[in-house]
Amino acid sequence: MKRLFRTCLLASAMAAGLGLSGPALAADGPNNDDLLNDATSTGDVLTYGMGHQAQRFSPLDKLNPDTVKGLVPVWSFSFGGEKQRGQESQPIIHDGTIYVTGSYSRLYAVDVKTGQKKWQYDHRLPEGIMPCCDVVNRGAALYKDKIYFATLDARLVALNKDTGKVVWSKKIEDYKAGYSATAAPLIVDGKVITGNSGGEFGIIGMVEARDAETGELVWQRPTIEGNMGTLNGKESTMTGVMNASWSGDLYKTGGGATWLGGTYDPETKTLFFGTGNPAPWNSHLRPGDNLYTSSTLAIDPANGDIKWHYQTTPHDGWDFDGVNELVSFDLKKDGQTIKAGAKADRNGFFYVLDRTNGKLLSASPFVTKITWAKEIDVKTGRPVYNDDNRPGTPVGAEKGKSVFAAPAFLGAKNWMPMAYSPATELFYVPANEWGMDIWNEPITYKKGAAYLGAGFTIKPLYDDYIGALRAIDPKTGKIVWEYKNPAPLWGGVLTTGGNLVFTGTPEGYLKAFDAKTGKEAWKFNTGSGVVGSPVTWEQDGEQYVAVVSGWGGAVPLWGGDVAKLVKDINQGGSLWVFKLPKA
Ligand code: CA
Ligand code: CA
Repeated sequence: MKRLFRTCLLASAMAAGLGLSGPALAADGPNNDDLLNDATSTGDVLTYGMGHQAQRFSPLDKLNPDTVKGLVPVWSFSFGGEKQRGQESQPIIHDGTIYVTGSYSRLYAVDVKTGQKKWQYDHRLPEGIMPCCDVVNRGAALYKDKIYFATLDARLVALNKDTGKVVWSKKIEDYKAGYSATAAPLIVDGKVITGNSGGEFGIIGMVEARDAETGELVWQRPTIEGNMGTLNGKESTMTGVMNASWSGDLYKTGGGATWLGGTYDPETKTLFFGTGNPAPWNSHLRPGDNLYTSSTLAIDPANGDIKWHYQTTPHDGWDFDGVNELVSFDLKKDGQTIKAGAKADRNGFFYVLDRTNGKLLSASPFVTKITWAKEIDVKTGRPVYNDDNRPGTPVGAEKGKSVFAAPAFLGAKNWMPMAYSPATELFYVPANEWGMDIWNEPITYKKGAAYLGAGFTIKPLYDDYIGALRAIDPKTGKIVWEYKNPAPLWGGVLTTGGNLVFTGTPEGYLKAFDAKTGKEAWKFNTGSGVVGSPVTWEQDGEQYVAVVSGWGGAVPLWGGDVAKLVKDINQGGSLWVFKLPKA
């Protein structure tokens, strides 16, 4: 508060000194320390993940399993427009304003108290963008006087946070080659760090850092072995070793998209980025482990060098990706505290790693059916494959042998972020139970065309539920409780010091559960499916909760038999804000 006050005074003094008239200059936005402290500062939500470590935990405790019953809407704000589709965003809350992104690369600033719009930015999207999995956006990043977000035509845009005017706009990559961007940027030490999307088009996955002030590139780190990184406009180091895990020229179209963005651990000064599937999906066309696809990469934020990697699905043949977020946490086990990281992978295993070196500590199933591997060998860190569950190689123009594999490629957990509570020492994972018929087909690379070489149909595993919110003990890998949901879960999770877990459902509900028992404590129907990530903060002594509503995402587009089950859910696009009225 003191810093903010001083800044205001300084701004007023400068305005007076320069003889400026009109309204007082707006206060500066958050600095790097504010971002680093976001997880513990309860009056704001400054970062995607509610803290760079992405625990999505708030210490706030006014809302608890008893009081949450009184939680009511304060206002709702419509994103408007004729186009709706999936709303997968997480709001950012700072100094009386909510910044929230919408589908089709839109960004809104809304007054926290009244829900009145302050400004709106509609990115002008060209014809021919190729987002694989709906026109979503997952959130913005706030730093000093600017707000940043990535767009479906693979650009990174910086806007003045008070006016919504564009300060700079930079091309991440060529959308005509299949690149797009949907993840929230991450801001560390004055650098805006982004990934890219397009793993279904034979792109090259990349993590890149730009100067937050100017948008100029600082470094780039390709995720596919054999490609060269850059630092300050010059070549830096090669990713991995040329042709070590890719034959011939395949590394030039190898995939490994970093489409979910990353997390950052200030204790080890490390960025963690997941990487997507190798391209094409047909694994018989690319022998080897195909590094660093379907992996977690630990990256030095200063220069983009890779510190370590852990590959969850070597030689991925099921589009499991490996993009899921690595959440840093303290693992208290056998009297020790280990700097750990956890990742609930699309492939069905919940991994706990030593985040200082990438060594595997444990890997346990968090869904009921995994067909592609028998287990993960903790000694080697590698899966023990069921070789007969890899879809077969095509013969001539004929498709190869079809197999039924679980999880389905939409994942035991897809993009939707989990939460970790240091209070209960449990992870809360939004999981789905489904499988797929999958087969391989012949394919050759063509710029801007789908590069799969596979066909598939997703099917539910059970009659009564697909989604399952599961509380997982990272010490044992055991599931402590679960909540089963008829439709697949596709939204993020929030947990609080008040012993609550919040998440949304495609059926339209935002729900709260007792964090220790899983007992449902509250629900509210928002009128369309909730696939965004809820947040909480306090102002004027009251605890608020916000979430976006609007059904969409990959399930209606790619979900096969499951898409048919959820076809009657109405689309939407709105931001909901709740609070507990004063007694
Ligand atoms: Ca905060
Ligand atoms: Ca993929």
